[in-house]
Amino acid sequence: MKFIVGNWKMNGTLSDKEALFKSLKNLHTDNKVVVCLPFILLGGNDYGITLGAQDVSEHDNGAFTGDISGQMLKDADVKYVVVGHSERRANHNETNAIVKAKATAAIKNGIIPIICIGETTEEKNSGRTMTVIKKMLLESVPAKGEYIVAYEPRWAIGSGKIPTSDEIAMAFETISKALHSIKRSDIALLYGGSVNAKNAAQIASIKNVDGLLVGGASLKSDTFLPIIKSVE
Ligand code: PEP
Repeated sequence: MKFIVGNWKMNGTLSDKEALFKSLKNLHTDNKVVVCLPFILLGGNDYGITLGAQDVSEHDNGAFTGDISGQMLKDADVKYVVVGHSERRANHNETNAIVKAKATAAIKNGIIPIICIGETTEEKNSGRTMTVIKKMLLESVPAKGEYIVAYEPRWAIGSGKIPTSDEIAMAFETISKALHSIKRSDIALLYGGSVNAKNAAQIASIKNVDGLLVGGASLKSDTFLPIIKSVE
């Protein structure tokens, strides 16, 4: 069983959701499939698909216009939430401390956070990938509770570029060792960044890779279903 997590980002309509969920409902798979939708598309889940969100507030309630709390997500039957995606870190100035607070809020409400980490092109080119991702990881994960970590090199997201298998293996070893050092060898690890039906099986077979986080290719069944099938 691998996790296959779709991240729709700010894309999709109700009819796109209906079409994908209908095809997922008819799919027999041992994989754990999760679809992280924009907030507005989360309500209603006639097909019983595992729902994820793309952000959560670190606060429980109050004067935080535009934010959504863990309690609200729980009410909408959300089981997972992406926190610290590189687009939020870059566009909304989310620091490791904020990501940790959001992950902690999710756990408090019974939702499993998928905590994203990953280096920029500049960090990669200067040979700092391992140092950067280790620091991001250790500063972003909550002190306790169930969570998932997604390694997403920023330069690989939406670019069609992916790291070599050796680079992925090295990053996952660094992450596994860092988690081991804080006594969290139980954490599932995902790879994300330009996953498609051609590269999914190879990436998912790399040591320590427990699943995939899929952006663009998760929007339509003709690109998402072949990924799910290919990693079985
Ligand atoms: C993502 O948004 O997390 C992602 C991995 O995007 P893409 O698959 O489109 O690169």
